[in-house]
Amino acid sequence: MGTDSSKYDMIIVGAGPAGMATAIYASRMGWNTIVLDKGAVGGLAATTPIIENYPGFSEISGMEFAERLRKQAEKFGAVIKELIEVTDITVGESKVEVHTPSEKYTAKVIVLATGTAHRHLGVPGEEELEGKGVSYCATCDGPLYGSRKVIVVGGGNSAVTEALYLDKVVREVSLIHRRDQLRAEESLQKQILENSNVKMIWDSVVIEISGDEMAGVKKVTIKNVKTGEEQQLRIKAVFVAIGILPNNELAKKIGVKLTVDGLIEVDSNQRTNIPRVYACGDITPGQGQISVAVGEGTTAAISAFLDMRGGDWYGNE
Ligand code: NAP
Repeated sequence: MGTDSSKYDMIIVGAGPAGMATAIYASRMGWNTIVLDKGAVGGLAATTPIIENYPGFSEISGMEFAERLRKQAEKFGAVIKELIEVTDITVGESKVEVHTPSEKYTAKVIVLATGTAHRHLGVPGEEELEGKGVSYCATCDGPLYGSRKVIVVGGGNSAVTEALYLDKVVREVSLIHRRDQLRAEESLQKQILENSNVKMIWDSVVIEISGDEMAGVKKVTIKNVKTGEEQQLRIKAVFVAIGILPNNELAKKIGVKLTVDGLIEVDSNQRTNIPRVYACGDITPGQGQISVAVGEGTTAAISAFLDMRGGDWYGNE
């Protein structure tokens, strides 16, 4: 199962804010640290158009935030490998082995910071037209539709943040939500309802996305869940922001205890039920906030370090 790469103190799976905070702390404490991610540094946070609630930054784009995390971790010597899928993990008495399609890594401990993935609508046309007008990232794809009409689906923080961003870069945005009240936090609700040009379409769901390979998305069929009335909207893109699903496949493989929602159960030191295995960020129960993920990543690094070294933070036995 691959060649034996150099040995590490800590392997972190996932390069979102939680995993990168762990890497910054662990490498700064002198630990030989590697971060592996099947995607890119920043995780879902990198796709957020604007972060305006991370303490110390009144406004920063997700991409810039991700770049800062990378530079800071690399400054302390952390190795970051992107576009590398971890396929298997074995946890032994004294070490952890991590396998990718071409390499094997060993370490004293592993931190699972695998985060979440975008939930899909599951309607006809969604899969076929993904990347051709169906998108899960407004920051990435919004600018492609500058002169066109688009819709955003969802009613949470992500949908509202994305609609507010698109309001600035495309001709017209409608937000389609299945209820008549948003789930998003108050300040975002105020921004979208009182200070934007986003058109709200309440009590409605998308039932079909139509288009073709060449032209991409041409229209959506939506249905009012109260009246049953259907209508078609001619739009060029559908941004789906209807929540997230835990990336828990690796956790399941090694038998880490999960909650009923499929998240990894941890104690207040981010330890899982398996020694040498820690978890942090959105794959653990929490509020889905970058600041929380960063705090959990910090805790994971420190508690793993102390668990291996013994004693407390100040060196007392
Ligand atoms: P979320 O909070 O779970 O909201 C999902 C939204 O999609 C809900 O409004 C839900 O409707 C709707 N929905 C779910 N399934 C649907 C379906 N099949 N069809 C149509 N609509 C559907 O998810 P999120 O907005 O992606 O946020 C994920 C996490 O990241 C949250 O913890 C959030 O707080 C966090 N986040 C925070 C910020 C911020 O702090 N500024 C920004 C982005 C994300 P109902 O309301 O009817 O359930």
